[in-house]
Amino acid sequence: MPNGGGDNCSTCRFNQVNLGKADLLPRDGKHEYCTIRKLNIEFPLHTYCSNHQDNNPFLTELPRGFVWADDPQFLRKAEFRSQSSLHPAFFCNDGEIYAGRVPFFNGQRPKLQTEARECAICSEHISPVMSVQNPTATYLCSASHYLSYWLQSAIEARPYRVSGTEYEASLVESIGSLLIRVSLLIGRHGVLTGVDELEFGRGLDGLLAEATCGLIQSRSVHWMTKRAPASLSRRCISLHILWEHVLQIAGREPAKTEKPKKIKKRLQKYQSTLLDVLQSMG
Ligand SMILES: [Zn+2]
Repeated sequence: MPNGGGDNCSTCRFNQVNLGKADLLPRDGKHEYCTIRKLNIEFPLHTYCSNHQDNNPFLTELPRGFVWADDPQFLRKAEFRSQSSLHPAFFCNDGEIYAGRVPFFNGQRPKLQTEARECAICSEHISPVMSVQNPTATYLCSASHYLSYWLQSAIEARPYRVSGTEYEASLVESIGSLLIRVSLLIGRHGVLTGVDELEFGRGLDGLLAEATCGLIQSRSVHWMTKRAPASLSRRCISLHILWEHVLQIAGREPAKTEKPKKIKKRLQKYQSTLLDVLQSMG
């Protein structure tokens, strides 16, 4: 089975076998282990999370969202059923579920089973199925029904079991407090110094990671912007713009050599973007 992207655990600097380097070092039978989540990595080529350096511009060691496994794509397609307020990264244009990666269930990787079993969502008796322990074995016929069940029952899905209004309100509140923080920084120095800018970048990154339950990453942001339903696309585009700013700040050389005027100009750009985002959600 090919792996579903280079941002898997085998290349992650937080996998203890890579000794803190963003590289695939020889394994020599060493134990693959995530130093952030304290997790044994059973299938490193097929396991993902947003702490991987490709999705974590400031190399934060706090867990960003949940762990993902490849979606067994040979399972059938089924209609998605849920009342939950779903993160736009889960959606396709036509309202079908995005499959490609599925989140772990209560910290466990879903297993694949070839014997026919009854799906907990649609009750069809079918093979193959995905299975999770909750606390007894539960079977799901498709990625859609796996995600429907995950949203209802998984610990990881708790943040999604709020209404869309609550979700939006908490996002608006977080962005508001970040704006206040930025104004305080400007007040302190008159301009934004390189150190302040890094602080701002980290704050923005943390906020986006929190608001998206760790789903903020180049891959999903790009994908969301293209494929989210129309009702969500404006917010997705805003998230995309903010994420681009985070990447710019994180990737930039220390701003010592830059003239304060130039830094100030850039800051004004961040501010107006944040304000735009606030208005787009108002
Ligand atoms: Zn089903």
